[in-house]
Amino acid sequence: MNMHDRDIIPIQRLTGELAAQLVAAPVLAKLPASVPTVAYRAPAATDDKRWRTHTIGGRGYRIAQPVTFTPYASAKPCSARCRFCSESLVEKASAKPSSSLRPGGAYFENLRAALCELAGLPISYSLSGLETTDDPAWMQQMLDALQRHAASSPVNDRVLYTNGSGLAHAAHGMALIERLAAFSLDWVELSRHHHREDINQSIMRFRPGVEVRQQERFASMLQRLGGRIPVKLVCIVQAGGVATAGDVLDYLGWARGLGVEAVIFREFSQLDDSYRDNVTSRYIAATRIPMAGLLEQCLNQPGFAGQFGFEQVTEGYYFWNLIGRYRGMRVTFEASDYALMHRQHGSGNGAQAGIPRQRQSMRRLESRAAHSVFVRPRGGTDWITIAGCCCKSRRQGTACRQTWPPATPSARATAAGSSRCVPSSASSALKADCCSIPSAVSAPP
Ligand code: SF4
Repeated sequence: MNMHDRDIIPIQRLTGELAAQLVAAPVLAKLPASVPTVAYRAPAATDDKRWRTHTIGGRGYRIAQPVTFTPYASAKPCSARCRFCSESLVEKASAKPSSSLRPGGAYFENLRAALCELAGLPISYSLSGLETTDDPAWMQQMLDALQRHAASSPVNDRVLYTNGSGLAHAAHGMALIERLAAFSLDWVELSRHHHREDINQSIMRFRPGVEVRQQERFASMLQRLGGRIPVKLVCIVQAGGVATAGDVLDYLGWARGLGVEAVIFREFSQLDDSYRDNVTSRYIAATRIPMAGLLEQCLNQPGFAGQFGFEQVTEGYYFWNLIGRYRGMRVTFEASDYALMHRQHGSGNGAQAGIPRQRQSMRRLESRAAHSVFVRPRGGTDWITIAGCCCKSRRQGTACRQTWPPATPSARATAAGSSRCVPSSASSALKADCCSIPSAVSAPP
């Protein structure tokens, strides 16, 4: 039987005492009813089921489960130009945004070599980067490499993050959907940031000729996906888009009418001062809609509150989400804080100047609640990303000798900022980005 990440992540009954320690504590305190359960994305150091030892590049690591492997897709410029796109943010230590990076000629050779190093380690696939479906031939090669690896090594979840452009394509969309179904994709996270075509286009700015821009093409793509691959719609809330409780209700009504069973509303990640001031960061600052406030507004609407049943809160070390059922759909409200994430990465960020650490930012606003480890084979030019999360556990473990969570928010911030990452092993056959190692890998005990 195939394992999934949900089989690994412990779910506990949520008590008031536990709720007060969660990232979402201020949000939970204002809810009109209690949330029954909490899912802990980050593993306890003592939870043997969540930790593996694995050798990468000749060096042994303790690795927290679940681990997500992301072959970063950037063969072409994205078919959209979302105004908030995290790939267009530029970190101060970087010369250019991730959106300008392109894979080198040895990409697939390096991908296979990186996967080889992970043989035997349970991982999940996260297909993201720019827009993977924009280049079907490139995507096919990637899927072939991933499928070969999965034939001999455990792979849990397989998820595609997409704006749908390739899947809605008149000529090759159906073939791509069939290929992804044959790949045993678990679900698609499909970005659509407004239920009206013109408003969605003002946010996503699909390039000329991209069919999925049209509402009817989007709807027919959903029909094609229906029954083949589960879909979660992703809506990034923002001023000018979905910004009020009324907008949320309209969006949910539209999604339900299209037969969608899961919707995720997500706030822009909070950014820290490691980013340059540019048009994207200014857009994010100007249009942010805080999720806690939006959720409160929704729960004050009888039309929503009477229909929304709380199910679960997720504890991520830098994000929270609240999941509930609304008229047969699974609806998630989510927010994250990259300042918190960076603090928890410790001070190793500068240790690897010149490596593409901006890739760590992929989809940070849009999709994933995880962060990344970059690896590349010796002599390779392409970096491969492994993403996961275990900072809390590192702080519980021997490497950091700190307990988690600290008792108060200020102690927590201090602890997060004072702990150094595991040093990188630059000479190993596979090299990991120091600033990212704590996300999935810890030093040998
Ligand atoms: S947010 Fe995603 S779909 Fe939008 S431009 Fe960026 S990579 Fe493309």
